[in-house]
Amino acid sequence: MSVLIICPGKDAKKWVEALKDLEPRINLSVYPEVQEPENINYAISWKHPRGIFKKYPNLRVIASMGAGVDHITSDPEIPENISITRIIDEQLCKDMSSFVLSLVMNKVRNISLHHSARSWEPLMYNQVEEEQIGIMGLGTLGEAVAIKLLANDFKVSGWSKSKKHIEGVQSYNGERGLSEFLKRTTLLVCLLPLTSETENILNKELFEQLPKGAYIINVARGEHLVEHDLLEMIDKKQLSGASLDVFRNEPLPQEHPFWKHPRINITPHIASVTDPKKVIGQIFENYKRMLENLPLKNLIELRKGY
Ligand code: NAP
Repeated sequence: MSVLIICPGKDAKKWVEALKDLEPRINLSVYPEVQEPENINYAISWKHPRGIFKKYPNLRVIASMGAGVDHITSDPEIPENISITRIIDEQLCKDMSSFVLSLVMNKVRNISLHHSARSWEPLMYNQVEEEQIGIMGLGTLGEAVAIKLLANDFKVSGWSKSKKHIEGVQSYNGERGLSEFLKRTTLLVCLLPLTSETENILNKELFEQLPKGAYIINVARGEHLVEHDLLEMIDKKQLSGASLDVFRNEPLPQEHPFWKHPRINITPHIASVTDPKKVIGQIFENYKRMLENLPLKNLIELRKGY
């Protein structure tokens, strides 16, 4: 029985230390140094090389190092019998909600716009109560963001697959609820998981359903956004701008037009970052559960993709 830590391009040391602090005797390998692939039965993973898991014939569980699992589910060679878990963590929720609040306030009070316009002329702004924030994806993070924004006097609605009951939040769901949701949203926050249904969802057709001058915040995945549609819609003033934390290619290449755009605000995928020390407890608990054949926590459905 052995645990594999696999996160090429990312520092595995913090994960090794966190796990060893919990269980010094644990049998651990760090990819690509794997002596006995047949001993691996539990993988802690972030952006693994495609197809690699087939090399571990006794692998039973893949634990995502983060809240998202698209880096796992997008690999068509993941064996069907493998369980996939994700992180649900209070700190991630706090970090995401305060980050989105700061982007929203930046937009509402035109904070970086004064600088990029190099203008001393104060710009008009709406009161927070006049903004209608629409959150696409009202799951663990979306709900935390909704509650934070409500507490800061914003009007908040959300769109998800199933209907939600969150006090003070107008819930829309499914294909039919989307147009109604978009029609009233002045500030759109994307917190959807990346699946075949949500890829490219932030596109021209969707932007055109928002009120003129609406603003986009994408803190989910770069693949949700059709980049040239965003540029076109800002040029046509259908959108007033965007704050983007995630991109199709990360790091965002220096020559990318987003960097120079005065109405696009860029951050380097920092909205909420997993702290190995904070989440290793839930990952280790699932490891023990797997050994005892108990149901795992924070399981995702491979079929649904999240
Ligand atoms: P989650 O708990 O799984 O919530 C996902 C939400 O999206 C749910 O409300 C779900 O609806 C909804 N949804 C999924 N597919 C949909 C569809 N086709 N149509 C409408 N609604 C749909 O996920 P989470 O923990 O909140 O995380 C969301 C995403 O945030 C992650 O997948 C990750 O990509 C991203 N993220 C980014 C950062 C960052 O630093 N930028 C950090 C962490 C996570 P139901 O509730 O009805 O199923």
